[in-house]
Amino acid sequence: MNELLNIDATEAATRVRERDVTAEALTALVLEHTKETEPQIGAYLHLDVNGAIEQARRIDNAIADGKDAGVLAGVPVAIKDNIHVSGHATTCASKILGDFRAPYDATVVKRLRDAGAIIIGKANLDEFAMGSSCENSALQQTHNPWNTGHVPGGSSGGSAACVAARSAFISLGSDTGGSIRLPASFCGVVGYKPSYGRVSRYGLVAFASSLDQIGPFSRSVRDSALALKVMAGRDPFDSTTPEREVPDYPAQLADNLKGKRVGVVRAYLDEMPNREVADTISTAIDTMKDLGAEIVDVELPHAEYGIAVYYVVASAEASSNLSRFDGVRYGLRESGENLLELYQNTRGRGFGPEVKRRIMLGTYALSAGHWEEYYGRAGKVRTLIKQDFDKAFAKCDLIVGPCAPFTAFRAGEKSDPLSMYLCDVFTIPASLAGLCALSLPAGYDNAGLPIGLHMQAPSYADGELLSAANALEGALKAEVDRLPAIA
Ligand code: GLN
Repeated sequence: MNELLNIDATEAATRVRERDVTAEALTALVLEHTKETEPQIGAYLHLDVNGAIEQARRIDNAIADGKDAGVLAGVPVAIKDNIHVSGHATTCASKILGDFRAPYDATVVKRLRDAGAIIIGKANLDEFAMGSSCENSALQQTHNPWNTGHVPGGSSGGSAACVAARSAFISLGSDTGGSIRLPASFCGVVGYKPSYGRVSRYGLVAFASSLDQIGPFSRSVRDSALALKVMAGRDPFDSTTPEREVPDYPAQLADNLKGKRVGVVRAYLDEMPNREVADTISTAIDTMKDLGAEIVDVELPHAEYGIAVYYVVASAEASSNLSRFDGVRYGLRESGENLLELYQNTRGRGFGPEVKRRIMLGTYALSAGHWEEYYGRAGKVRTLIKQDFDKAFAKCDLIVGPCAPFTAFRAGEKSDPLSMYLCDVFTIPASLAGLCALSLPAGYDNAGLPIGLHMQAPSYADGELLSAANALEGALKAEVDRLPAIA
């Protein structure tokens, strides 16, 4: 493999700015490599070959003119296909969007472009980001680069797989209950879910608005820190983004954990059926201790209700958000004798089975007579989960544990929706509480599949979280540094 494909985005941008390599040559290299990996991986729904080369030339011209080309100058980036890239299709991996084209760039896309990034394509996902394996995509299957018989995780499976396969340096995903962190852990890359409100969701097709957050996948922690710095901050188009300073995340990364208190929920490790995952996470915790951290026991007594709460809240919000796909305003339109039939035919044919399940669940949870019993109650338990974290964070700076109960499973292995929902048992509580959280590659199981360490920090402690992850990444490097089979 060309060594340029294996450096991280921070290094790549530096080399482009220093005119070691042109943005065009780097982009062409990634596109060539992607042509070879894609038949086996299927991470991309669309590759914008000509557009990418054009963008890269503009960066090269800016550099030749002595202009500042940005901190991501010439870095090829992939975007999950539920985030708008102006002029290109946004499919959400659904049939219902038909030939819809995005009329504008999402704020995150605009900010990446302004920082010099090259948008090379749109990545596959579970339909409307509902799923944990990418198998709910109505358009194509994505395979795990470490073993193509296994799933990449979901819902941002394409975004995780392309970064692992070296066919993008950075990608964007969205995380509602674990959709960045789970595929990152299955594909052996860094996956970062920022604190709720830290990054604008303008231009992200809404799934569950009180939970949705956009974040990066990368091959190093410092790349995620860089991408976050570029994307974070106030956006007048998203009222959840506060007027709050964006720290220089990459400049604040530490190489040790001195003075840090790291919380661990012992029961998660002791009761974990998969011992390989439990042992790898325990070793990572020992390494944190070696780096100077103090390990403290914490409890999250209500976290076990996370999945139940999430499937009421997220489905309720989804049922409302997805009502806009009615055959009148966007994409697919099936005919009918009257308006009701048009709706029924369009939504009946356009949505896949998992999306329909969520809409039905959510509509029921919000219906008159049931609202208090389901949505109202779920909101109360959500508060209890948040309070658990508040109490735990009084004793520690971050909480670590497994990102998932297992490594990437075989395609087709989880046919029952409930067993699929259980994949997110460790990631959902942080989403409900609006925390920042990430998955850091921590090791491999005996089959050579990656294992991710879940690290969580209080809302808006993004800088502290990334800093700790950077320190641990450095210490684990020798253990973790491997290339997937397809890369
Ligand atoms: N797997 C969870 C779900 O299916 C989470 C998805 C997500 O974070 N977008 O809803």
